[in-house]
Parts: sequence; C-alpha cells; structure tokens
Amino acid sequence: MPIVSVDEFVGAKLDYIVVGGGTAGLVAAARLTEDPNVTVGVLEAGKYHENAPEVNVPGMMARALHNPEFDWDFRTVPQKYLDDRVMAQSRGKGLGGSSLLNLLAMARPGKVELDAIEELGNQGWNWDTTLKYMKKSEHLDPPKLSPEDAVRFAANPKPENHGTDGPIAKSFPPHITECHTAVLDAMEANGLPRNGDNGDGFPVGGLLVVTSVDSKTATRSYAASAYYAPNATRPNFLIHLENADGTLQRATGVSFSHEEKVYTVTAANEVILAAGPFQSPQLLELSGIGDKDILTKFGIETKIDLPGVGENLQDHALVPTVVEVDQKVQSIEILFEPAGLAKQQELYQQQQGILAGIPSSVFAFMPGNVIGTAADTKKWKELTHLTGSAPEVFANTKPSVKKGIEKQYEILSRWIDNPIQPLAQLLMFNGPFPIPGVNFDFTKRHLTLLCAYTHPLHRGTVHINSTDPFAHPSIQQNYFSNPADLDILVRTVQWMKKVYETEPLKSLVQKRIVPTGEESEEELREWAKKMLATVHHPVGTCAMLPKELGGVVDNRLKVYGTSNLRVIDTSVIPLQISSNIQTLAYAVAEKGADIIKGRI
Ligand SMILES: Cc1cc2nc3c(=O)[nH]c(=O)nc-3n(C[C@H](O)[C@H](O)[C@H](O)COP(=O)(O)OP(=O)(O)OC[C@H]3O[C@@H](n4cnc5c(N)ncnc54)[C@H](O)[C@@H]3O)c2cc1C
Repeated sequence: MPIVSVDEFVGAKLDYIVVGGGTAGLVAAARLTEDPNVTVGVLEAGKYHENAPEVNVPGMMARALHNPEFDWDFRTVPQKYLDDRVMAQSRGKGLGGSSLLNLLAMARPGKVELDAIEELGNQGWNWDTTLKYMKKSEHLDPPKLSPEDAVRFAANPKPENHGTDGPIAKSFPPHITECHTAVLDAMEANGLPRNGDNGDGFPVGGLLVVTSVDSKTATRSYAASAYYAPNATRPNFLIHLENADGTLQRATGVSFSHEEKVYTVTAANEVILAAGPFQSPQLLELSGIGDKDILTKFGIETKIDLPGVGENLQDHALVPTVVEVDQKVQSIEILFEPAGLAKQQELYQQQQGILAGIPSSVFAFMPGNVIGTAADTKKWKELTHLTGSAPEVFANTKPSVKKGIEKQYEILSRWIDNPIQPLAQLLMFNGPFPIPGVNFDFTKRHLTLLCAYTHPLHRGTVHINSTDPFAHPSIQQNYFSNPADLDILVRTVQWMKKVYETEPLKSLVQKRIVPTGEESEEELREWAKKMLATVHHPVGTCAMLPKELGGVVDNRLKVYGTSNLRVIDTSVIPLQISSNIQTLAYAVAEKGADIIKGRI
C-alpha cells in the first residue's frame, strides 16, 4: 500500500508497528510483509524524498547535510576534551533514515569484530552468521576492469564473499582520479599492502571502496529505494510519514502526534523500535524504560529499570589532511567550472563521470603496527580500562554497565597490536574537505585524506533532556576523554605525512595545506582537538549484551523485561566495528526479521 493518511493508519489492524522508517526499520518491515497475512505499520517522522537529487545523485553526496528536511542535525553537549566545542551529529530524517544521507561507502567489518559480539555473550552473532545476512541484503556489480587494473586499483572482490540477489546494489565508483593508484602505491611503500577484497573478514589494507550505488541508474541504493519502493504496493505494508516523536504504550502500541493531535495505535504482535542510536534510547526513556535514577529525575514512572539504556555510546571520529595537487587531477573542483559541470552532467546521463559515483576512491584500514611503534601500542593497551578515561566519564555509570564496558576493553586490548585488526582508517576525498576558517581556491585541485580511529576507547551517553518528545536528547560523546584516541589519530596523521612524501604521490602534491606538515607533535595534538569531526557511526546505546553486563536487548533483540518489544537498529551493536557501519545495519535488520519470523 502506498503511504497512508493518519486515519487509515490508526484505523488499520496492525500486527507489527515499526517506529522509525530508517535503514533498519524499512528492512524489517519489508521482510515481515513478505507474509501476506501479516500487516506492518511504519511510523516515520520525516518525508519520502523520492525524487530529491541531493539524495539520489551519488556525486551530490553531503549536499543534504544540515538541511532540516533531510537531517535531524543534532548537537553534542560541549566536549570538554575538544576545548568545549559543540559537535554536529547528523542523522537522516525521512524514509530510509541515515541511508538517505550517508556517504555511500559499503566497507565491511572484520571477522574478529563480529566474532567478538558473540564473545560478549550474544550466542549466534558471529562472522559466519552475520556474513550470511550481509550477503542477503546486497548484490554486487563487479568492477569492469582488466585483471591487471583490478589488481592495480585494488578492486578484485571474490564472488563468494558478496551477495548476488539482495536488494541493495553495490558497485565501484566509475570516476577514479590520477591520485588513486598514487595513494595506494605510496601506502604500500609505507607498510600497508593493497587489499582488493575488503569483504572477506580481513579488512587491513588499501582498496577501491565499494559503494551503495546502483550502477545501472547511477543512483543511491538505500533502504527506501531498495526495500520500500519495490514493495510499496503490498496491501499489508503501511507507512505513515511526518508523524512526530511519540512514546511506547506498554509495548502494546505507540502513541504519536500528527498536526498537533495525539493518536494511539496498537500492535497485535510486536512493537519494533528502529529510531536509531540517538532516538531509540530516547523513546525507551520517555516510555519508562531506562535507568530509574534518570527517569525519576524527569518525573517519569519507571516501568523497567534498565541502566544500560542510552549508555555505551561509541563513535568513529576523524581529522582531515588536505593538500593541493597537480592541475591535471580531475577532482571535484571541475564541477565549479561551467564547462566542466556541463561535461559531467552529460556524462551522468550515461551513468559515467564524477556525479555517477562518490567523489572518493581509496579507503584503507591500518593496524597499530603500521601507524605506531611497539612503545605506542604498549601505551594504548594500558589505556584499555575504565581507568584509562577521565574519572568523570564513568562516575555515575551503573555497575552492570561498567562491567560490560570493562569486558569490551579486554577485547580491545587484544586488537591494539594485532596486525590483522585496523586501528585507523583512511577515507580519501577527491577535493578539499570543508574546514571552518579555510578558504580553498577552487581554481586549483585538491586531495583530502581523512584520518579516523576505528576502535574508540571513549564511551559516551545519550539521554533525555526533557519529557517533551520533541526535544532533542542530550548527546555526550566524551570524544578524547581517553587519551589513546587522540594518540592514535596523531600517529595516523604523522603516517599520512610520510605517505604524502612518498613517490608516486609526492610528485602529484604541490603544497600541503592542512596541516602544513611542519607542526610539532604537540601542535598536531592541539590541531586535532580543533579539527575533530564525527564519521557518523554512533552505536551501542541499546546494547545487545547480557543484562548483567548492562544489556538493553537480548540476542533475539528483545528489550529485557518485555515480551513483545524489540530494538532493531544500530543502537544494538554492542562494540564498535572498524568499518563504516551500514553493511552491519542491514545485516542486523535482516537477521532481526528472521528472528521475528521464527526462522532462527
Ligand atoms: C552523514 C552520514 C554519513 C554516513 N556515511 C556512511 C557511509 O558512508 N557508510 C556507512 O556504512 N555508514 C555511513 N553512515 C552510517 C549509517 O548510514 C548509519 O549508521 C545507519 O544508516 C543507521 O541505521 P539505523 O537504522 O540505526 O538508523 P537510521 O537509518 O538513522 O533510522 C532511524 C529512523 O528513525 C526515524 N525516527 C527517529 N525518531 C523517530 C520518532 N520518534 N518517530 C518516528 N520516526 C523516528 C528517523 O527519521 C530515521 O528515519 C553515515 C551516517 C550519516 C548520518
């Protein structure tokens, strides 16, 4: 059924209600409605941006950022270890959720990371079982390259590692600049080999990134286009848009507001919370499920005392390094020249050129022994404890949550000096990454190599700020509250300096811009505090963990203490993975649907 009015929605007999028609929510709804005897209603706060070029055209990625039509545009509280900066925290708003706003990278996590989810006490969640669902969610369009070029470009996916008939289309960017092989070669000379298939559970190395782009149409492939649109005529798949924030009614249903009126809908079977890592915990707390001390503070009656709700927040964060490169490099600045833009628009009609893919090509995952010394990794290992963070971070954390985080640190400690486990990520951008206060000359050509840490040691929280469901939650990331995160980033930037200074990349680089390459280590540390930005991968705030380790949901994604309330979104991921996370978001939802259907 197409999108329905509030009256049709409230009048329907629903078996399942999904709160949040985002990445995971639409996957769960689409899979459940495969059974014609089951009716699913999806409540989504945003719109259906079906024909928006800033969503659909891959080369226009990031244009919808901070636009309230597409982006919730949250903010953190002031970050003490970043000179009290308030940081932007984007989240997609509308059908498809963050999959409509994201930057389309489809990197995969490592085997040991998914096996660690099982080690934390979640039986049945490991590499093998999750790979099955990653493959179910996707189909790969292999690169159209000669065998030699596939090796040179680091793009040789093995068919057995990838899906063949799932809804999300995966393809490689069609426009690759002169910098691509130069960066890969310079990284190899600095100890990081090419890795032509990052999808096999061993992510270390440099690669041509796989993207969620349908190469046949050169458009974004995301939850709304791949899971909703092809199924929009199912009479049992109901979507109501632009409802406002609501509360769960004792898990029998959901109340929500539409045009200032409050409605309640009930579910015969289950309520599925899929509002994402900031709003799923917010909705639980507003509904009386959470840490009783926090609920009491806001005068909310505690229905289930669950201290893990909104705790254990983990994110990836990055700093940019930007250089000016040779004028022959075909980077995004050519879109700012009328003739260049006209040519690229023409190429786009043939699914080619800059606009047909993301303006990025090299991604790389670097282990601790590549970016740091043995002394560095020894020091970082010593910080993999609750005591490694600033004392205020865990001052009010409940014992069960602390126990769960300490168990995560035991695992992280093993990864710090493991040569098959990435500690840092490089994300290349074919142009100048926007930096406040820096005016780039768009008649020149630029290359950005973003440096991110992959296994944050910081832990944060997201909790309600008020009982008003329209108020944004309070997001405390505690970035850099564990000094290892800053150290790892600084070492990554120093390693990147060596990469810029290595041939053949060296000959392409005309000038270092940010940082200049002349900074002392101490100056780089101060600079990193000013530059740090999110990679938009928050997880962990409704963690799938045993209850005694601060868990919010069990390994069947059911909220502890409830019989028919599940969380299916990235908030259940208990321990951050090294890669971008949409591949896992799709897999969690695919698996969640199979759990509900009783298939596993
Ligand atoms: C700017 C950006 C760039 C990113 N880039 C990448 C990338 O390149 N590669 C990658 O792998 N990952 C990337 N990610 C991360 C990835 O896209 C997300 O982690 C993932 O999509 C989250 O899925 P989810 O289902 O948990 O939440 P979401 O997809 O965010 O879904 C939550 C949905 O719930 C809705 N909602 C919230 N509250 C309510 C309410 N009260 N009532 C009704 N509806 C509600 C929201 O509007 C939204 O549609 C990026 C994310 C962002 C924001």
